[in-house]
Amino acid sequence: MKCQTIKQQSDAFLDNTLSDVEEMAIRVHLQQCVECQYYMQQITKIREGLKSLPIIEIRNGFAEQALNKTCKAMSAAHRKMKLKIGMAFVAGLSIVAIITWNIVSSSYQ
Ligand SMILES: [Zn+2]
Repeated sequence: MKCQTIKQQSDAFLDNTLSDVEEMAIRVHLQQCVECQYYMQQITKIREGLKSLPIIEIRNGFAEQALNKTCKAMSAAHRKMKLKIGMAFVAGLSIVAIITWNIVSSSYQ
């Protein structure tokens, strides 16, 4: 078994949702691989830390309100981006016009 497989199946291993064969393969690998032992210890600590966090009551409509605020923020960012692209386009056209004017005016001298 590869270390990457251990990392992919670590949650299932800790949740005891793997088959007996898969679980045994992980246990055998963990006995031989210090890196995966460390990884599994860290994942276990993170999971225990998450369980110890307080449960926060979310008021009704919170998700809809958060979604609306996110959409408004994204829309404002999109408008700003369109304005910047427009300004860059106008600046580019101005440069082309100036260069063209210089070429045309110098050819008549
Ligand atoms: Zn490993």
